[in-house]
Amino acid sequence: MIEFNDVSLVYPNGHQGLKDVNVTIEDGEFVVIVGLSGAGKSTFIRSINRLVTPTAGELKVGGDNILDYKSKGLRDLRTKVGMIFQSYNLVKRNSVFRNVLAGRLGHTGTLRSVFNLFSKDDKALAYESLKRVNIDDKIYSRADQLSGGQQQRVSIARVLTQKPDYILADEPVASLDPPTSHQVMKYLRKVNKEDNITTIVNLHFIDMAMEYADRIIGMRSGEVVFDGPVSEVSEAT
Ligand code: ADP
Ligand code: ADP
Repeated sequence: MIEFNDVSLVYPNGHQGLKDVNVTIEDGEFVVIVGLSGAGKSTFIRSINRLVTPTAGELKVGGDNILDYKSKGLRDLRTKVGMIFQSYNLVKRNSVFRNVLAGRLGHTGTLRSVFNLFSKDDKALAYESLKRVNIDDKIYSRADQLSGGQQQRVSIARVLTQKPDYILADEPVASLDPPTSHQVMKYLRKVNKEDNITTIVNLHFIDMAMEYADRIIGMRSGEVVFDGPVSEVSEAT
């Protein structure tokens, strides 16, 4: 469970990222955050793995207030919380396989991770994850030789390899054309259902949100202005 209790975030330049946000997300939910550019969607998502740190309130992930976390707590948090970015964030010159294995880095011991040593189980899991998003045929390709949609599927495979409890996807389809966007959203939805991974996705487009979300959170100027099931959206707009 994720709980925002009166969470606010003011950036050093005075911009209000979040304002008095109160939201509870149950395990296994698929939540889509919508809102115009600058509404606070990215700040909301990035707070959950502490890529940004709220300046007031309490933010609990799995019962713990993550605003108290120092480095060890943050490492563990980021192993539990997988992240998918608009720009894929793959290591361009590395193979797809190596990129996906990086999902295990938080789980391996420090020495092993320094030398990128992975167990047979890690490798089996990486391969299995690639198969789940139908990109196992590209396993030995260099990441930067793949199309955008393929790279985003690799980044989903990397997250699966991490075996997270939560997946955060910050504008995962903003760089993709519509058919490819739908394909990526379908994989995110499938993974959420099959593995019961709580998933939070930022999207620009309300129609795409309506098609895939269980629940929609609408944001404006850092505030939550709508929070409800898809069936309630049309009444609100
Ligand atoms: P969205 O994801 O909906 O586009 P953001 O969370 O990126 O919205 O931005 C919310 C507000 O916080 C905006 O006013 C934006 O300018 C500001 N903001 C976002 N990131 C930073 C940052 N790193 N430093 C200062 N202000 C920021
Ligand atoms: P490095 O550890 O060399 O700084 P990484 O590629 O591991 O670079 O991380 C890049 C950015 O992504 C950092 O800001 C880091 O905090 C963040 N990050 C790393 N791992 C995760 C994760 N599992 N979930 C979310 N964010 C992460």
